[in-house]
Amino acid sequence: MTTPLVEMDGDEMTRILWRIIKDELLLPFIDLKTEYYDLGLKHRDETNDQVTIDSANATKKYKVAVKCATITPNAARMPEYNLHEMWKSPNGTIRSMLDGTVFRAPIVVKGIDPTVKCWKAPITVARHAYGDVYKNTEMRIPKAGTVSLVYKSADGTIEESQIVHEFKGPGVCQGQHNLDDSITSFARSCFEYAIDTKQDLWFSTKDTISKKYDHRFKDIFADLYENEYKEKFEKLGLEYFYTLIDDAVARIMKSKGGFIWALKNYDGDVMSDMISSAFGSLAMMTSVLVSPHGYYEYEAAHGTVQRHYYKHLAGEETSTNSVATIFAWTGALRKRAELDGNAELSAFADKLEKATLETIESGEMTKDLALITTIENPTVLNSKDFILAIKKNLKKMM
Ligand code: NAP
Ligand code: MG
Repeated sequence: MTTPLVEMDGDEMTRILWRIIKDELLLPFIDLKTEYYDLGLKHRDETNDQVTIDSANATKKYKVAVKCATITPNAARMPEYNLHEMWKSPNGTIRSMLDGTVFRAPIVVKGIDPTVKCWKAPITVARHAYGDVYKNTEMRIPKAGTVSLVYKSADGTIEESQIVHEFKGPGVCQGQHNLDDSITSFARSCFEYAIDTKQDLWFSTKDTISKKYDHRFKDIFADLYENEYKEKFEKLGLEYFYTLIDDAVARIMKSKGGFIWALKNYDGDVMSDMISSAFGSLAMMTSVLVSPHGYYEYEAAHGTVQRHYYKHLAGEETSTNSVATIFAWTGALRKRAELDGNAELSAFADKLEKATLETIESGEMTKDLALITTIENPTVLNSKDFILAIKKNLKKMM
């Protein structure tokens, strides 16, 4: 490798897997070069979370990062790690610094069949991570009265007001917003990632009902497509397809998969959980943060698998699935290889993925997969032995 990957280490069981993956699947096979940032909670606390900011800045510099799952502190973590502060989610901090969109894609393997029979290829969900109900203002209305929406421009030249509802009795009310800039960044990330992964892009909202709000999303996507991406899409034989969200849901249930589905914040929140559960397992879901400025951060979609970690600390054997974390590494290595024109590194990423899938297809897997596989009499391996089984298959390919 010529340029380093930004490596963001993490917490608990995934931190254990991280070390084993590096030692067994990466270092023996490639000249791995990383710039290391320890985002483990202890070190985040020691640095007043500066390490998270530094790692995001390094991602801006080098463009590609791979991240281990990290603890987002809650009240219970304060005494556990003797924290100075309840630090914010590292993913949130990194995402706001890189201005990115998160794409979540299932890892499809023979023997772990999606609940929806016609789905043959992964469906990648892109969720807009700004605004709407997540940054809303809500009111309970106690009794009869009028609620209005009022806008005053900062320079005092425009003032507009509209009645939301004339209440005859108690009720509820909610104000939401979004920003042209944020929607544009989201759209740009989606078009870029579609080109990057050579997949069609679907986008859906409820623009027939929401004629100004959702319609703005539709228009921003359409304008950006027309002005900047149409030619590129056509050259690659890709399609940008906008449809009403109800129609999208109906079509997706009958589709073969193999495309990206872009969704507004709430739709993406709900649909990504549905899609991931229908594809089999959270442990088989990868996630990549794509910024409109061309930065990429790869990670597993699951958390630090705390329950397994406590078992591990108690000296018990664990069977934790490392597939999504391995695919975070292969995704990052392949992107690094692409930016550096390093065909050998790209081929290695392909081989490591192939070795991982073949290990599962040959019946060797972790417990979570053994519970849902259609393969008969699977061999359940512990966390380390599963990685060693992959290593054995990988060696044969090298
Ligand atoms: P989790 O780590 O995703 O695990 C929830 C449960 O899902 C596990 O107990 C396990 O079920 C199953 N599971 C998840 N990943 C698995 C894997 N690789 N192999 C086998 N089973 C797996 O979620 P959590 O326990 O709610 O959260 C733990 C910590 O992770 C929290 O501190 C949270 O803040 C953090 N988190 C971080 C990220 C991130 O960094 N991107 C994302 C989510 C959560 P069984 O126990 O039934 O085996
Ligand atoms: Mg959700």
